[in-house]
Amino acid sequence: MIERVCPSCQSASTKLVYSGIQLRPGSIPDSTALNLVRCATCDTVFVNPALTQDEALSFYPKDYYLGSGGGVARAARLVNRLHSPLESFTREAISSGSAGRGPRRVLEIGCAQGQNLTPFLQAGWAAYGIEPQPHLAIEASTNGVEILSSFLEDNDQSGHRYDIIILHHVLEHTLDPRTCLGAIRRLISPDGKIFIEIPLFDSLPVRIFGPKDGNLEFPIHLTFLSVRALKQLLSQEGFTITDSRLRNLPGTAYRTIGYRLTNASESGIIGRSLAVVLSAAVQTVLSGVGLVLRKGNAIAITASLPGVQPPTG
Ligand SMILES: [Zn+2]
Repeated sequence: MIERVCPSCQSASTKLVYSGIQLRPGSIPDSTALNLVRCATCDTVFVNPALTQDEALSFYPKDYYLGSGGGVARAARLVNRLHSPLESFTREAISSGSAGRGPRRVLEIGCAQGQNLTPFLQAGWAAYGIEPQPHLAIEASTNGVEILSSFLEDNDQSGHRYDIIILHHVLEHTLDPRTCLGAIRRLISPDGKIFIEIPLFDSLPVRIFGPKDGNLEFPIHLTFLSVRALKQLLSQEGFTITDSRLRNLPGTAYRTIGYRLTNASESGIIGRSLAVVLSAAVQTVLSGVGLVLRKGNAIAITASLPGVQPPTG
C-alpha cells in the first residue's frame, strides 16, 4: 500500500471524504481499508492509501471497458457518446489535418479496443495506442491500431512525435497525472493538440449517490483532479487551453442505478428494463439541473503547446 500526498499539488494536507468504501461487492479484500481523501489546497480527490498500479489493474473486471455490467452499462456507454466533445474534436482534427503535410499520427493513451481511433484510421492517419490490458490491446491491433509499450516513459524516449494525443477518461486511472502530462508534452509534435476528458468528483450525482455513484468506479479510479488542478497541471507543463467544456455524462445514472438494481436482485429482463427506464428518468432531471448549476460530472479540455516552432527543412 502506498501513502499518497496530493498527486496534483503535492500537499500532504487532506480531509477524509469517504472511508472503507467499495462499489462492487467483493471487489476488495475485507481487510483492506481504502479511503477517498480531498486535498485541502487544490480540491483533488484521491484514493489513499493507494493500491499500486498493478494491484489496481487486478480489480478491473475481465470485460472492463465494453461489455462489463451487461446491457445497462452498454446502454450507458451509447448514451454517453451523444454530443461527445471527443467526437467533435476528432472531426475537426481530421478536417484540419488532412489539408496539411504527409500522413498524420494520432496516439490514444488507454485506447481499449481502439474505437476512438477508427475515424482517424478511416481518414488515412497512422493510429497508435497504449493499452495495459492485453486482451483489449490485441483487439485494438486487429482493428488496425499499432500498440506501443504500456509504459509512457519508454515511448517518451523513442523520439516519435504525434499530431494528436487523446486521454479520454484516463488520468483518473493514474497515480501520478503530473508525470503522465510531462511525458505527453515530450510526445506531442510542435503544432499538435491534446484532448483530455476526466470525470469530476464535485458533481451533482456524487452529491446525491455518494460513494455508490457510477462515476467513482472505486477503486479503479485512483485520482479525481479538480478542474482547477487539471488546468494548473497543464499550464505548468506549458500547455495553453484552447477549449474547455463541462459535461454531464448522461450515462452515469444508468450505471449507478443499474449496478444497484442488478446487485439488489437477480434482475432478469424486467428488472433490467426497469433499471434503464428509472435511471433514464433520473438522469434527464440530473443532467438538466446539473448543467444549470454548473455541476457537470466531467470536463473535456483541448490544449496545445504554443510558442514551439515546428522544425524547418
Ligand atoms: Zn492538491
